[in-house]
Amino acid sequence: MQRLSATLDRVDRKGYGAYKDLSGPHDLGLFVLSVDRVQRDPFAPPSLIRIRTKVNPFDPTLFENPVRRAAFEDFLTRSIERSIRDVVRGDRGSGGSGRVEIQRTSQVVLPRTSMVVTPEYVEARMAVGLPARGRSVDASAAKTVLLQELPEVVHRGLIPAPEGGVDEQTAKLHVETVEDAGHLRRLLYGIGLVAFVADGAILPRKSGASDRALSEGAVPFRSPEEYRVEVDLPNRGIIHGMGIPEGVTLVAGGGFHGKSTLLSALSWGVYDHVPGDGREFVVARGDAVKIRAEDGRSVAGVDISAMIGELPGGCSTEDFSTTNASGSTSQAANIAEAIEVGTSLLLVDEDTSATNFMIRDERMRELVRSEPISPFIDLVRPLHRSLGVSTVVVVGGVGDYLDVADRVILLEDYAPSDATLRAREVTARFPPRAPFLHKDIQPPQERALDPSSIDLRRGKRQTARGRGLHAIELGRERVDLSYLEQLAEAGQTEAVARIIGEWVADSGVRDLFGETLISVSENGLDTLSCYRGHPGEMSLPRPQELAAAINRVRALRAGPAT
Ligand code: ADP
Ligand code: MG
Repeated sequence: MQRLSATLDRVDRKGYGAYKDLSGPHDLGLFVLSVDRVQRDPFAPPSLIRIRTKVNPFDPTLFENPVRRAAFEDFLTRSIERSIRDVVRGDRGSGGSGRVEIQRTSQVVLPRTSMVVTPEYVEARMAVGLPARGRSVDASAAKTVLLQELPEVVHRGLIPAPEGGVDEQTAKLHVETVEDAGHLRRLLYGIGLVAFVADGAILPRKSGASDRALSEGAVPFRSPEEYRVEVDLPNRGIIHGMGIPEGVTLVAGGGFHGKSTLLSALSWGVYDHVPGDGREFVVARGDAVKIRAEDGRSVAGVDISAMIGELPGGCSTEDFSTTNASGSTSQAANIAEAIEVGTSLLLVDEDTSATNFMIRDERMRELVRSEPISPFIDLVRPLHRSLGVSTVVVVGGVGDYLDVADRVILLEDYAPSDATLRAREVTARFPPRAPFLHKDIQPPQERALDPSSIDLRRGKRQTARGRGLHAIELGRERVDLSYLEQLAEAGQTEAVARIIGEWVADSGVRDLFGETLISVSENGLDTLSCYRGHPGEMSLPRPQELAAAINRVRALRAGPAT
């Protein structure tokens, strides 16, 4: 502590670069502060620090296996986040002076680089805006931040009560909730379900801009009797809720009755949620993919022939490439790519689909005879029968889907009921539609992605980095990920960018999804950093989002796998 204080006194009022002298470890009694990277000026991104406690004072059952450890690390990240809010004043001079930050979390629980829990210590990776007056060192403000605020943040956020501010009972609930959700998700496969929505779950969100639970006027979920199942969770015990079986499930209902809200909750069900989210026990198969239209995206050599036949100009659809996909071809490519990387559940919302991909009615069939698209309505059953891929599809307008559904869930005033029998009665009153496609379908032909098609050079440097939640930068190309609806936080985007960067840099020697991603999940996200110390802010992505990102690289070339 003395040394840090003396160093600060020495550099006071010097040019900002003098802060470099803080680099390295400082023993601050309760913990060791490591200053890993010092920012160049007060307006640059904040300096990277790590805080490592000298012992791990927590109940070891909180981190006794990998699932619990990740959940506990998530809990402590939020705990630090809250302590920073309560303790740190923030604005202490020019630029980002006095700011203290930890990686921002979303409503989902993910392995992140922000926190490391081992039996010997707890380490938080943070960022601090070292204070400046104008562009010179402000030692007195720096002392306040590093020697008063930071220890108080650690005390409240990283030390268990009664000495510190962390309530181990709350931590236990967090860890057990996550463990239960993971257990529930794994149960699905064995009991022939693709998703589960617990009774009492709160599905609607506060607003289009906030992912927190709607607190006022939310109607809690209540399963229709026909679909109610009972599951036994390791911590919570027995709970009930709606089980959605494999096959084709239709979610129908009038406008504004909660259809998209249900589907969206299912799409986030691939992740675990924090207690209080409302969707703690809303889970879907971990490989579920939300599918939507995305006209304008690029596509590299994807086999969409099962969905779309020959295109104008004799353009083949077995290795379909375009720099500007249409609504329907983009949606077909999204499905083919999801099947390539592996999925057992597609989630489709009429609201965000291309109409001509979803359906073609009889009049249009009569008028347009050279239509290459097999509408999705003719694909949902073969997808399940031939490829084992189930679908949950939300429809408000297209009644023809009643014909192909294994079951129909009707939403009225946010309350679901089973409308399968009624749907059958309705269907019987209309002449049956002649399906466009009778045959079984084949999985898309395998592709080999060419890593040399991606150029990471940007000026003199090589770059592969995240740019917020919805973009990555690979060399000079900015890849738009706005339509990846299951990307939860910017840390995942950053990790996706770095994984692609590594894959390109070692010329694809290691298989992108197999070796690279598995190694990251097993050995930790820290392995994606070439620096010792603070690795940057990352969260674990799914293979599905990694694939989706690389498939949207405009420079990407792909050929048939040999
Ligand atoms: P749809 O897709 O059927 O048109 P949405 O899912 O978009 O309907 O929902 C319409 C509105 O109702 C949204 O503002 C949503 O937040 C709200 N909502 C959805 N489910 C519930 C619920 N269970 N309780 C209260 N409000 C809800
Ligand atoms: Mg809707």
